[in-house]
Amino acid sequence: MNNIISVIRGDITKQVVEAIVNAANTSLRGGGGVDGAIHRAAGPQLLQECITLKGCPTGEARITRGYQLPAEWVIHTVGPIWRGGKAGEDERLRDCYIHCFEIVREKKIRSIAFPSVSTGAYRFPLERAVRIAITVTKECIAQCPHLEKVMFVCFDETTYEWYQHIVSEK
Ligand code: ADP
Repeated sequence: MNNIISVIRGDITKQVVEAIVNAANTSLRGGGGVDGAIHRAAGPQLLQECITLKGCPTGEARITRGYQLPAEWVIHTVGPIWRGGKAGEDERLRDCYIHCFEIVREKKIRSIAFPSVSTGAYRFPLERAVRIAITVTKECIAQCPHLEKVMFVCFDETTYEWYQHIVSEK
């Protein structure tokens, strides 16, 4: 299973995979961070398609085309905003990954790259978020037999180090 999962430091918009995941907001109309980077790289058609989706609740996921990205698809998921940990944040973050992998199963996507959902502007504690991401991913991979590659694309060194550490520990 660990040869399916890899951790790299880099820019998710550059990844040559079938699908990249966007850490979006409920409006799906673009934003800062990785969301802004993905919209800039994909071009204005991405926003046009996102508008037709009429938003996405926290913890769910929606798929669009990737337009000018190397990736064919973008799976937009909305992570929880950290509010101290007692507002269901762990469950909502878990739901994000579960819903992304549901789409992977439906579309028979073979390779996917994730950013570190919720740990930027949404301030989810990094180690806690990484543990959730890796645990759910390992559970979901078992149910996606066609899946060949799951990448975690880390933008900064601290995020990269936590992913490396937690992937290799279990
Ligand atoms: P959220 O609002 O879900 O916290 P952010 O985009 O603010 O989303 O941050 C999520 C993570 O994505 C952070 O670790 C941030 O450094 C990272 N990030 C920002 N730009 C990119 C990019 N181009 N590729 C990969 N990760 C990115």
